[in-house]
Amino acid sequence: MTVFIPRSLQEATDLIAEHPDAHLLTGGTDLMVEVNFNHRRPEKVISLGKIEELHQVTINDDHVIIGAAVPYAQMEKGELGESLPALAEAARTVGSPQIRAAGSLGGNLGTCSPAGDSLPVLSATNSLVHLTSAGGTRMVPFSEFMIGPKRNSRQPHEIITAVTVPRTCGWQGYAKVGTRNAMVISVASACVVFHDDELRIALGSVGPTIIRCTDTENWYQSLASKKSTGVSLEIGSRASQESRPIDDHRSTADYRRHAIKVLAQRLFERGMSK
Ligand SMILES: Cc1cc2nc3c(=O)[nH]c(=O)nc-3n(C[C@H](O)[C@H](O)[C@H](O)COP(=O)(O)OP(=O)(O)OC[C@H]3O[C@@H](n4cnc5c(N)ncnc54)[C@H](O)[C@@H]3O)c2cc1C
Repeated sequence: MTVFIPRSLQEATDLIAEHPDAHLLTGGTDLMVEVNFNHRRPEKVISLGKIEELHQVTINDDHVIIGAAVPYAQMEKGELGESLPALAEAARTVGSPQIRAAGSLGGNLGTCSPAGDSLPVLSATNSLVHLTSAGGTRMVPFSEFMIGPKRNSRQPHEIITAVTVPRTCGWQGYAKVGTRNAMVISVASACVVFHDDELRIALGSVGPTIIRCTDTENWYQSLASKKSTGVSLEIGSRASQESRPIDDHRSTADYRRHAIKVLAQRLFERGMSK
């Protein structure tokens, strides 16, 4: 295996232009598992961990730009965690401290599993993914980035360099259900964001991509009295109806539908009580 270790973004984009068949590596917490199990046998790897630009965080009043190599450990707390509370909550649920020290947003987006914990947050916050090649950078809304289970719209000569996460002016939160309380891939997850009088709900692990509950969001928007009794129950059931879960080795579709009902209702109630 040939491993390239570029020190700048320019060097990395030149390398991927020359070797579009190379595998990109950031923390290695997904890629190296695949290699160890012989699911992937890369002949060329471009390691992005030493590129300073990919570790940068810029916190502005209305949005935050997070470099693709920033690890979860940095999103969990501090100024970044306080700026984006739902992302901080999602980051705290990822794997173990060792995984959170290495695993990155770029890697979660690169793998693009419907169970990726950062992804419902990027969906509910209307985030933009930065894709950079030797020809420049294009910004893709998360809704157009994830196109299927473990499939995204990144071209082979592009690198995910950062994510712009708009800041919202209301409460936001993330929660997941797994087969145990820690070190677990979710069987169902949800992110709820309040922004002005708008409600946004995104679901993970219950469809081929992250699901935005637009019918539930529109129903909520049409309500004359948003605090009336029964709204939270209705939010839970409507979100659950918008999920498209399957039975698999982690859970059943029925349980996932039930879990979404409870998660969406609870997150909504937490937000309303703030
Ligand atoms: C024990 C364990 C527990 C885990 N628990 C969780 C969990 O709870 N929640 C969760 O969501 N995930 C979990 N994961 C999966 C993994 O940690 C995350 O998906 C993480 O975000 C991957 O980031 P990484 O930097 O390690 O990616 P890598 O392994 O380096 O890369 C992952 C994929 O993305 C591509 N890639 C990497 N960087 C870029 C880039 N900049 N541009 C384009 N493509 C890129 C790679 O080519 C590869 O295909 C777990 C993994 C392990 C081993």
